[in-house]
Amino acid sequence: MKKVESKNKATKTNGMHFHVITLFPEVCKAYTDASVLGRAQKTKKGKGAKVRGKKIDISYYNPRDFATNKHKKVDDKPYGGGPGMVMAAGPILKAWQKAVGRKHNKRKVKTLIMSPRGTEFTNKLARTYARTYDHIVLISGRYEGIDYRVKKALNAEEVSVGDYVLTGGELPALSIIDATSRQVPGVLGTFESLEDERVSSGEMYTRPDEIKFKDKKYKVPKVFLSGHHKEIEKYRAKKK
Ligand code: SAH
Repeated sequence: MKKVESKNKATKTNGMHFHVITLFPEVCKAYTDASVLGRAQKTKKGKGAKVRGKKIDISYYNPRDFATNKHKKVDDKPYGGGPGMVMAAGPILKAWQKAVGRKHNKRKVKTLIMSPRGTEFTNKLARTYARTYDHIVLISGRYEGIDYRVKKALNAEEVSVGDYVLTGGELPALSIIDATSRQVPGVLGTFESLEDERVSSGEMYTRPDEIKFKDKKYKVPKVFLSGHHKEIEKYRAKKK
């Protein structure tokens, strides 16, 4: 029997490690354990004894676990007054240290703070992140936001997922993980990768070739049934 050369090596993540700091890890994990992202976090058994490494790793850290006061309080009133509460810096900084504080090469770590006032996140940024970093720490805010010293202390960048305000940074963090993971080699299957290239192709159809809805029939355009890829591309280009 052939020996698996180095178990450690084979199971090591060769792609990207995401670290999410959030008060709601279980909410995020339900999403990241499903479908493409779920598969990318698993080692795969290929033919024979070959084990293919994970493409991504996702770890969660709850600031509450790092709170030192009796009631595990992670927020407090803002200095200078104003409505709402602010997430305290201490527990977040401790969570960050647990995630990437010690052994990691600084240049390969990127820390992002979710904020509606941050740099707008785009697919281009996702590609850059995937190519440049080994570790991305995503800090999810709640309440009125996060003590500004977290940004300074961690040399972090504020990132926004769009011009609207959500109740928390969990959906933004998940969006960034999702879009960035798609850019990590091997995360998407061959077919999905092809689809990725055609993200702007627009119209697409599947069986049946005719559907009925409220007494009206809807047919798949003939050109799609033909299977002539060039003709289909031409049709799509004209429609743009
Ligand atoms: N009044 C606060 C709103 C905080 S919303 C402010 O003006 O900043 C609570 C948290 O949700 C924020 O700390 C941030 O982490 C997250 N959040 C809300 N909308 C967001 C967006 N569009 N992009 C990224 N994060 C967002």
